[in-house]
Amino acid sequence: MVESTTLIEHLERLVPMGPDDAELSDGYVLVQDGRIGAIGSGEIGSRREGATVVDGRGLIALPGLVNTHHHFFQTVTRALPAAQNVRLLEWEATNYPYWTRIDEEAVYATAQVALAELLLSGCTTSSDQLYAFPKHTGGAVPMVGAEVEAAKSLGIRIQATRGAVDVGAGDPTVRAAEFIEHTDAILDSMQSLIAQFHDPSEGAMVRIGLGPNGVTVCTEALMRGCVELARSSGVTLHTHVAEIPEEAEYCAAHFGMRPIERLAELGWVSEPVWMAHAVHLNDADIAMMAAGGAAVAHCPSSNMRLGSGAPPVLEMLDGGMDVGLGVDGSASNDAGNLLAEARAALLMSRLRRPDKLMTARQALRMATAGGAAALKRGDIGSLAIGKQADIALFRPSGVAAAGFENDPLAGLILGSPARAAHVMVQGRFVVRDGRLTRVEEDAIAERHQAVVARIVH
Ligand code: ZN
Repeated sequence: MVESTTLIEHLERLVPMGPDDAELSDGYVLVQDGRIGAIGSGEIGSRREGATVVDGRGLIALPGLVNTHHHFFQTVTRALPAAQNVRLLEWEATNYPYWTRIDEEAVYATAQVALAELLLSGCTTSSDQLYAFPKHTGGAVPMVGAEVEAAKSLGIRIQATRGAVDVGAGDPTVRAAEFIEHTDAILDSMQSLIAQFHDPSEGAMVRIGLGPNGVTVCTEALMRGCVELARSSGVTLHTHVAEIPEEAEYCAAHFGMRPIERLAELGWVSEPVWMAHAVHLNDADIAMMAAGGAAVAHCPSSNMRLGSGAPPVLEMLDGGMDVGLGVDGSASNDAGNLLAEARAALLMSRLRRPDKLMTARQALRMATAGGAAALKRGDIGSLAIGKQADIALFRPSGVAAAGFENDPLAGLILGSPARAAHVMVQGRFVVRDGRLTRVEEDAIAERHQAVVARIVH
C-alpha cells in the first residue's frame, strides 16, 4: 500500500459520478494510502499539511474509466486489409491464421499496447478475455500471466478473464481447431489461474474471471462447470451474447430457444456475470437479464465496425441493468480509447433512439460507474471517501477544445477524444503530463512492431 498523501486542489470541475450526479467547481480530492480521504470544493483547511499538492486549475477530474471488454492480443491484426470490410464470422476466419501464431511474448507486447492506450484515455481498470492458447505455447496459465505482468508494468488494474472454446474439441477438421480445448483442461487451468493471480480483497490490482466465449462455441459441461467454479471460488463470469443475428438462428436450431434463454438454462443469468455485446435482444431478454442481475459490456465501435447492429442500451438502462462500455478487441475497433467509446455510445444510441437522446453524462456514467458495477467492483467507478484513488484528469486545451468552456464535461464526450493529462491508479500517478510514467510509450510500440513483423508479415 502507498504511504503518502496527495492533494489535488482547485479543480476546474470535479465529477464524483455518485448517485446524485453532483458536479463541483473549485474541487479538491485528498488521496491517502491509495484511497480517497476527502473530497469537496473550496479550501480543505488543515488537512492540506504534509500533502504533496497538485495544482488542479484547468483540469476536469473524473473517476478512472473502466473498460469491460477487450481481447488485447488482437492488436497484432489491427487494420488487417483482408479483415477490414467483412462481418464477424468472416472477420474471425480471416484473423484466425495469424492468431494461432501468438505466444507469451506476443501476449505481453499486445497487452502493453492495449493497456497503455487505455490508460492514456483515462481508463484505470480493464478487463480482458484471452482465448487463444496455441499448442506451441505453455497454455493458459503463462499466457494470462503475461498480460497480468503487462498490467503490472504500467500500473493499471486488470480483470483478466480466461476465455475458452470447447465445442469440437479433438476434431482437427473444425474451423480454428488450434483454439479448441478439452473441457476438463480448461476448468483445471481456470482453477490454477485463480490460485495464482486472483486477489479477492478490496482495492485488488489483479482479478481473474471465467470467460468461456459463448453458448455457440462452448459445451453445456463447460458453461455449467464455470458456474460451479465461480460459486466456489468467488470469481465473476463473462461471456459474449447476441452479437449477431446468426447466433439466435444457431440457438433456435440447436436448443430451440434464444441465446439469453440458453444462458439462463445453463445457470448464467442469475450469477455475478457481465456479457459482451447483447445487441440482438427483445423485451423478454432484457427483463430476464435485469431480473437476474446480469450486466452488459456495450461495445459500440466494434458493433458498428463489424456491422453487427445497435443494441437497445436505453432499454437496458431503463430496465435497471448495469451497462458498462468496452472497446472490444483491437482488430474490430481499431482504437482502444475509452473516451472515444463513450462518444460512439452516445452517437449510436441517438441513431437508434431519436425519440430519447442519450446525454453526454449518461455515456460518461456507463464509462465509469456502469463499468465498475458490471465488473462487480464496489471500490472503483466513482469518487467518494474510502473508494480507491483511481482518478482521470483532463485538461481541455487547444483548438479541439475551444468553446468547451460552455460545458467542459460534455465537451470531453462530444468533442475529439482527448488524451488524459494525468491518471492516478491507487493513489499513484501512472500518467503525468500525457506521458506514461513507468514505461516509454515508444518502447512499447517498438516491441509490438517486432511482434507484428514476426506474426503477420
Ligand atoms: Zn469479444
